[in-house]
Amino acid sequence: MPDPAVPYTTNNAGVPVPSDDHSLTVGRDGPILLHDHYLIEKMAQFNRERVPERVVHAKGSGAYGVFEVTDDVSRYTRATLFQPGKRTEMLARFSTVAGEQGSPDTWRDPRGFALKFYTEDGNYDLVGNNTPVFFVRDTIKFQDFIRSQKRRPDNGLRDHDMQWDFWTLSPESAHQVTWLMGDRGIPRSYRHMNGYGSHTYMWINADGERFWVKYHFKTDQGVDFLTQEDADRLAGSDPDLHRQDLYDAIERGEHPSWTLYVQVMPFEAAAGYRFNPFDLTKVWPHGDHPLVKVGRMTLNRNPEDFFVHIEQAAFEPSNLVPGISVSPDKMLLGRIFSYPDTHRYRIGPNYAQLPPNRAHVPVHSYAKDGPMRFDPSRAEVPYAPNSYGGPAAAADRFDDPSAGWRTEGEMVREAYGLHADDDDWGQAGTLVREVLDAAARDRLVSNIVGHLLAGVSDPVLERAVQYWRNVDKALGDRVAAGVRKA
Ligand code: NDP
Repeated sequence: MPDPAVPYTTNNAGVPVPSDDHSLTVGRDGPILLHDHYLIEKMAQFNRERVPERVVHAKGSGAYGVFEVTDDVSRYTRATLFQPGKRTEMLARFSTVAGEQGSPDTWRDPRGFALKFYTEDGNYDLVGNNTPVFFVRDTIKFQDFIRSQKRRPDNGLRDHDMQWDFWTLSPESAHQVTWLMGDRGIPRSYRHMNGYGSHTYMWINADGERFWVKYHFKTDQGVDFLTQEDADRLAGSDPDLHRQDLYDAIERGEHPSWTLYVQVMPFEAAAGYRFNPFDLTKVWPHGDHPLVKVGRMTLNRNPEDFFVHIEQAAFEPSNLVPGISVSPDKMLLGRIFSYPDTHRYRIGPNYAQLPPNRAHVPVHSYAKDGPMRFDPSRAEVPYAPNSYGGPAAAADRFDDPSAGWRTEGEMVREAYGLHADDDDWGQAGTLVREVLDAAARDRLVSNIVGHLLAGVSDPVLERAVQYWRNVDKALGDRVAAGVRKA
């Protein structure tokens, strides 16, 4: 007898189904019938369960939480989510970059650190990484960079020769590659890594004053890492280690948190700063621009359905709120286009209606129709301007995030203008000489040598040795000895 407490199975239209076990056939041994609609619906649904995985950041994990402002930064921004005492609901997604959905969590790779804040002025997304810098500084190189890190077209294999070929021909990558080959290139878990906005953004205060800022989310769990040896072992025995760790910690009630700091640069100081402050391959040394505390984010709720809330989560640096704007960082400006574009392709043009992406405030956009539209258009009339009380832009109340700074000049295809201390090797060398201790430097050499010995051939290997000598002569000599290219 069926248990009356257990709900009966229905098809997708809510109609009770005839069987969970048997398809409809002509006699017990006969052929299956096409009009067994429930069977066909099950098969068809199954065949369509996946959406295309993200080209980058495919394997990720995430959770909901809250951001609380603990300090007063209202002198720098009027963004409501950063006003004193404010609490804002949020979503975080952490990810590896190059690996596919099923790839191990412990491969050496930067990690995505994507945040969505459901503010009273709409969604604010800060789509960062666990590193303060990046491999390239111009968005036109991003596609080539990623292809060099992914799989070869001929045999479908990843290829260290391809990776080092691109890196050594792109000296601006040196700072990020040094960071990647160091301890932080494999975090112990998502809970044990920092997050950085990486790009420079603009903040605007209530008086209209503008500032350049960089975001630093410091883990309250402490930074910790895995050695290459441990990571290799865990990739085999526990490929979902970081997903499991985040989920289990939250279920246990150990809610991970990060303290947010910003570095702030006065608007007018950018032109004369010793590094180009918009170059994504550079940090602003803390000595020049100390950290200013803002608040704390805490992740306290696992999603009830991984696909709905994490796989369909759509983060986009284009989601900016009043008080926050962009900077002339060419990587950021490229991402403003490419993120919403990828979501339209991957999960459809109405992705902003899905549960993780919905604003927590009323949406008064004129968007309508399109595949999978399920919110009725909220506009009274489908066009603006109109005479019937439909939404009207309030340009006098909000700043335009796309129009934050002033510039002039011819249209050119050129590198950034050089600032006094700009070069491709300097900050990487500082990291090696002044931040890493002797043991961390030993591990750095070992990681680089191990990576280079995994299929990198001449002349790329020769170039790699020179690349490391440019970062730091002693480091390069040790790498040369390690790969027997002294
Ligand atoms: P500081 O001595 O003030 O800061 C050095 C920072 O390096 C630390 O605060 C820490 O960043 C980070 N760090 C520590 N260990 C490692 C590691 N194994 N791998 C990567 N980063 C590590 O120096 P400066 O600000 O003058 O910067 C010196 C160098 O430090 C830079 O060239 C850059 O390579 C690196 N760095 C600087 C950051 C910045 O925003 N200024 C951020 C991260 C690295 P954190 O406090 O964020 O954990």
